[in-house]
Amino acid sequence: MHHFEYRQGQLYCEEVSLETIATEVGTPFYCYSHATLSRHFRAFDSAFSEVNHLTCFSVKSCSNIAILSLFASMGAGMDIVSGGELHRALKAGVPAEKIVFSGVGKSEDELVYGLESGILMFNLESPQEMFFLNDCAASLGRRAPIAIRVNPDVDPKTHPYISTGLRENKFGIDLDIAESMYVQAKEMSNLEVVGVGCHIGSQLTEVSPFLDTIKRLKLLIDRLKEQAIEIRYLDLGGGLGITYSEEAPPHPREYAKSLLAEVDGIDCTLIFEPGRVIVGNAGSLITRVLYTKAGPVKNFLVVDAGMNDLVRPSLYGSYHHIQPVSDHGRQQLTVDVVGPICETGDFLARDRSLPQVEPGELLAVMSAGAYGFAMSSNYNSRPRPAEILVSGDKFEIIRSRETYDDLLRGERVPNFLR
Ligand SMILES: *Cc1c(COP(=O)(O)O)cnc(C)c1O
Repeated sequence: MHHFEYRQGQLYCEEVSLETIATEVGTPFYCYSHATLSRHFRAFDSAFSEVNHLTCFSVKSCSNIAILSLFASMGAGMDIVSGGELHRALKAGVPAEKIVFSGVGKSEDELVYGLESGILMFNLESPQEMFFLNDCAASLGRRAPIAIRVNPDVDPKTHPYISTGLRENKFGIDLDIAESMYVQAKEMSNLEVVGVGCHIGSQLTEVSPFLDTIKRLKLLIDRLKEQAIEIRYLDLGGGLGITYSEEAPPHPREYAKSLLAEVDGIDCTLIFEPGRVIVGNAGSLITRVLYTKAGPVKNFLVVDAGMNDLVRPSLYGSYHHIQPVSDHGRQQLTVDVVGPICETGDFLARDRSLPQVEPGELLAVMSAGAYGFAMSSNYNSRPRPAEILVSGDKFEIIRSRETYDDLLRGERVPNFLR
């Protein structure tokens, strides 16, 4: 249940009709349900209530400060992958000691920012990063808490672009190498080993890859113990999938049950970095049909949202359910739902059977809360859409639609062209 439902043929988000929002703020816009966001966070977090744990929301999946503030108020930590995300998380009121810093390419500025803020730990992704962080910490007179993000070489059985825990991926460190890195890290005066981390991919619909990963990490933790390296935090990453179409991922409760059985006997605080499973089905993208166009072999619905607003279909061939905001029994028609961007790859759906709609009607692109707005761009000089948060019978703009002036912010014509 995600609080996007029809009432008398009109699609509502909680108690607000999407038509009403569209009339007030224009289209396209992202619409999130407060009730769904909080319910999903609570469902995930409480599934692990019997053990010491910290749920660090993955900021990159949906970065709006209103949404981060909501999770912060519920006790969430944050998983960040850039200095910009650290800035957002701190501004949203997340205590630094609940923030973990992931990512293969942290710059000096970003490492220093994390150190000065006093974050929970840096998840290291290469030996060079380890030495560099030690140097940065030394020059600040600090000790950097670290985990090593291990690449367990398990197949998450997901889309190749979103698997991260295979040997050939750029992420993490080979298990064999990780052990010797830990031994080195232990000897470095400005590092403090606190954790072991991993993140094997996204949109996983089975638990077995998570369990295989834990088995491997357990062996590593045992070997480290023999070397007198105590691990306090076991960071199991994010990656739990959602239903976009026919997928049947485990409920967080089942996921937790399987994982907890597997980590039994490990004396660590568990860290999780969920993104998609919390926000994915809590948001949708509302777009207006501009034109209907019958080509020689295909029917097109040209809508006012494109790949710059929601890139997942173009980038990963992702499926998003699309439904008319006003639903009254109509004939079905097979169409491509395409945006205004000058790219053949600009589509939201292909060969999709949809009720026949007219120009001016609204469509809801469902399950767009994760990696939706967060991946949006200004390609074709299109202002990014508004973001709306609905709570009960109220809604507020949590990000204004960009203006044409926003598009030019920071640009200037050099003196030699004046
Ligand atoms: C993207 C990412 C996540 C979140 O992944 P989801 O599939 O959205 O749960 C968690 N941890 C790291 C390190 C990531 O890069």
